[in-house]
Amino acid sequence: MRDNQGMEFEAVIGLEVHAQLATESKIFCACPAAFGAPPNENTCPVCTGMPGVLPVLNRRVVEFAVRTALATSCKVREKSVLARKNYFYPDLPKAYQISQYEMPLAVSGHIDIEVEGETRRIGITRIHLEEDAGKLVHAGAFAGAQTSLADLNRCSVPLMEIVSEPDMRTPEEGGAYLRRLRDILVYLEVCDGNMEEGSFRCDANVSVRPKGQKEFGIRAELKNMNSFRNVEKALEYEIRRQTEVTLDGGTIVQETRLWDADAGVTVSMRGKEEAHDYRYFPDPDLLPIHVDQAWVEELEKTIPELPGEKVARLVSRYGIPRYDAELLSSSRRLADFFEASVAAFGGNPKVTANECIQWKDVVAAGKLSPETIAHVVEDRETGKVSATASRKLVELAIETGKPVRQLRDEKGLTQVSNARALEAIVDKVIACNPKEVESYRGGKAGLLSFFVGQVMKETRGKANPRVVQEVLKAKLG
Ligand code: ADP
Ligand code: MG
Ligand code: ZN
Repeated sequence: MRDNQGMEFEAVIGLEVHAQLATESKIFCACPAAFGAPPNENTCPVCTGMPGVLPVLNRRVVEFAVRTALATSCKVREKSVLARKNYFYPDLPKAYQISQYEMPLAVSGHIDIEVEGETRRIGITRIHLEEDAGKLVHAGAFAGAQTSLADLNRCSVPLMEIVSEPDMRTPEEGGAYLRRLRDILVYLEVCDGNMEEGSFRCDANVSVRPKGQKEFGIRAELKNMNSFRNVEKALEYEIRRQTEVTLDGGTIVQETRLWDADAGVTVSMRGKEEAHDYRYFPDPDLLPIHVDQAWVEELEKTIPELPGEKVARLVSRYGIPRYDAELLSSSRRLADFFEASVAAFGGNPKVTANECIQWKDVVAAGKLSPETIAHVVEDRETGKVSATASRKLVELAIETGKPVRQLRDEKGLTQVSNARALEAIVDKVIACNPKEVESYRGGKAGLLSFFVGQVMKETRGKANPRVVQEVLKAKLG
């Protein structure tokens, strides 16, 4: 943004992501970590903070975080510490949250993102483990008083916090970073990545500064965005707001602001003066976490091809556009499906990519086989079925589970591409429309589509329009 003296501003963005780890059980007890159970069903004396209990760290939680660290080029600390973060809130029965503070599990990594055809490297400051808190349900008036109920199912559900460096400069870069990070976690199968259900949450820190200035401006921390699009919109709004305040001679204060998606604005929630003093200290009930090199090497072998690598490989190996490769790589399953479909026939990968993208929801639901796509792509390339028929065939295959080629023959959806077979019909159409033939020959080239239409009608849509055109052109001269 530019003011009337030509001063230009740029934004600085750093993102904190809380990802819920997809483990069976919670981080310090054996309660199920699953979402959606009746209130307080998934609880025990440990996660409800009863006196005299001892937490035991879930090894799988550490494994998931180490794999994430490896996939984001972070250095995994051999020793890290779980600390108590003290605060009082009714959804936190222990009155402290176990987290990591001075000694996080992993540090100094990065993720590469692609924005407007350029690759940008976004630094990752740290990855640490922590437990989630419970949930308050505001139940309304009860016996004359406003009542809130506590559901502690979420207490001690494992979270991983991933903090970025303030390396992003536009909302678009913020969105690209989040999408890529989400895809990485989903590829690793350490998080389901569901932003609406809150298993992937983002706090966005943003400040503005005059372009060319080295020091960062004062930042606001934005909360309450439950979709990637909302993060981008909240950032756009906040950058505009901070720029305007600065241009009007005002000052930006460090504060937490909530995104109001309906109004499309951010509103102040609390300022820095209300910031907590959490009195962190190492949890005396838990030993430091030790991750030895041998384990790291073992986990290294479990890292699959990651989204960025997959996109690059699909582009170079199959010659498909980057945009298609990105869409296909948005899910490992879809990308695998695409490669299996190409392998099953070896036809034009671009056409196969289009089909896979068109049917991606059905692929995700596991209701389509790569052979189905391979066969319709092949039949289209050889002219055996039309584009319209191929769509219908895929729909029928999904519905009935029958092979498409069987359906094609059963339903008579084969397209007539044989020029010989079409000649008689073309002759008939020419004979029946002498006036049009005369006009066409007199220079009204546009009438060709009229003839094509007539042939299609005669064949009940079964003729290959491309071949019909060729035959017509030859006969009409
Ligand atoms: P806190 O724990 O108070 O949120 P952190 O130091 O962990 O503070 O920083 C949180 C996030 O804020 C990080 O992602 C960091 O990159 C980002 N950040 C820090 N300073 C700025 C700034 N001036 N403008 C934008 N983002 C910033
Ligand atoms: Mg923060
Ligand atoms: Zn429990």
